[in-house]
Order: sequence, then structure tokens, then C-alpha cells
Amino acid sequence: MSEPLVFNPKVRRVIQSAVGADSHMCWTCRSCLNECPVNLATSRLQPLKFVRLANLGLLDEMLDLPQIWYCLTCNRCSQVCPMQVKPAAIIGYARSRWVASGRVSQKTLDDYRMLLYRFQRVRWHAAKACMKKDATPDLADSLWREWMEKRVDKSLPAIRIGSAAFSVQPSRSASRNADGFSCFTCKECSNACPAFGGSEIFDPLAIIRMANLGMGESLLTSPSIWLCLECQRCTDTCSQRVRGHELVRHLRKLAIETGAVDKGFLTRWYLMGKGLYPKLLNEIDRLFGFQ
Ligand code: SF4
Ligand code: SF4
Ligand code: SF4
Repeated sequence: MSEPLVFNPKVRRVIQSAVGADSHMCWTCRSCLNECPVNLATSRLQPLKFVRLANLGLLDEMLDLPQIWYCLTCNRCSQVCPMQVKPAAIIGYARSRWVASGRVSQKTLDDYRMLLYRFQRVRWHAAKACMKKDATPDLADSLWREWMEKRVDKSLPAIRIGSAAFSVQPSRSASRNADGFSCFTCKECSNACPAFGGSEIFDPLAIIRMANLGMGESLLTSPSIWLCLECQRCTDTCSQRVRGHELVRHLRKLAIETGAVDKGFLTRWYLMGKGLYPKLLNEIDRLFGFQ
């Protein structure tokens, strides 16, 4: 029988103070588990586990978890938490302690950033593949490797104002300040976006600018709009109150309504995610030496 875990109130206070949230308020509703895109696709990242360990002050046990590096920092777990426990901030704190402890080299951290960047490239290719009606969502290792390396098409055409036959802005009545016209291109949304991959792959600012310029057709047929993780960080960070996440959501709805993607797309895209995320976690395991 293994030894029981011993509650460490001092470490719990340190963690709670660092993340600015009370882990003991968690009432284990599991909403964070059901919201995490990585957990939904793989069952391998449980934000609640970090909350429970933080609550017991078990920092060392937390630092033994590879899951620290599985997190995409999308913050969806924190947003959905009814008790404002901030699981994402707890994972972020564990990550910072890991780095501070010298367990990981700068090269590994650089490679990790590049891996996440390439992952968005893979997702772009995957979304494009899913746009074909006869696509099979099976993701072979060879295809994963190919998509990691392959640059995306130059999908964005030269900017021309007013080429769209319909508006791609959500109506103001449906969503106050959801349009992008007040954007002054400060790039805060791009900097905050966990799915950012450059303007050719995915960049909320590029999408807002294209919507402002009436480039609806290009947007609705672009794989990029399916890369958004719906985390709302672009909206939360925007000082001009542009609601980027609602714009992307609206574009997706229009893409389905106008037939830019067929009705089977969402199922293929969902199934593709089930192949993509485990491969990403395997790459992370290899990079950090977890396997
Ligand atoms: S969503 Fe919040 S309250 Fe619910 S299990 Fe997760 S941390 Fe606990
Ligand atoms: S921040 Fe996102 S990826 Fe990380 S645990 Fe929370 S929901 Fe999952
Ligand atoms: S909601 Fe905004 S910040 Fe989050 S992934 Fe989508 S575009 Fe990026």
C-alpha cells in the first residue's frame, strides 16, 4: 500500500497567493475537465488534478507530472470554473517552478515553442483536408510528419476592399461591440492567442482586418477559422472591446450556413482532433524525456 499524501498548508498558501485564487473553493464539479480541449481529445490532461494537488500543498508531486507541458494555456478551464479557482494559473505556476528549478534546458523550451507553432500548422493542414467531403479523419504518422514540415498555401489573397457579397460582421444587436471596426491593430489579440501561428495560419488580428475589409469569401473558405480554441483571450485583452472570439464563431456559423463547408465537416474535424492531440502529447513526451 502506498503512503498517504500529507497536507502541507504552508505550500498551499504559497500557491494560492501566487495564482490569486482559492483552490479549496473547488467543489469538484469537473467542468474544467469537460472544457479542456486537450483532455477532451486525449483524457490525458486533467486540470482538476492540479487543483487537488495545489489544495493539498503538494507542489513536488505536481512537478512530477508531464501534464504541466500538455496544457495549451487556453484558459478555458479557468473561464468555465464556477468557483473561480483558476486551474490554468495553477498549471502555469507549476510550469514556472519547473523552469526555475533548472529541470529543463533553454533549448528544450525553444523546441517546445517551435513544436506548438508547428502544431498550428498541422491543424491548418488537417482543417483543409477535412473540408473535402471524402476525407478520412485517420491521421497516419507519415501525414503528421508531412504536415509538421509542409508550409501552408499562400491562402490569403491580396487585400481588396469590399469584395464580399455579404457582411461577415456579427450584428451589433446580437453582440454589442462584436464588430472589428474599432480595431486599431495594436496586436494584443495576436499576442494573447494560444492558437497564433502567423497570419497565414491563424491570427485573430488578420481575421479581424479581413472582416473589416469585406473579405468574407476568403475567410469562409479558409481552414484558419477552424483553428480558434474559443478561449476568448483576444476579447478579454482588447482595449477597444473588439470581440474577436465572437467574430470567429460567427464566421464558422456562416461557413456552415452558406455551404462553404459541408454538414459533415464538423464531425470530420472533431474526429481529426482525436488523432491530432495524442500525437502532440507524444511529441511533448519525447521532447522532455517522459518516455
Ligand atoms: S471547474 Fe472549478 S470547481 Fe469545478 S472541478 Fe474544476 S476547479 Fe473545481
Ligand atoms: S488552460 Fe486550456 S489546455 Fe490548459 S488545462 Fe486549462 S483548458 Fe486545458
Ligand atoms: S478566442 Fe481569440 S485568443 Fe482564443 S483561440 Fe480564438 S482567436 Fe485566439
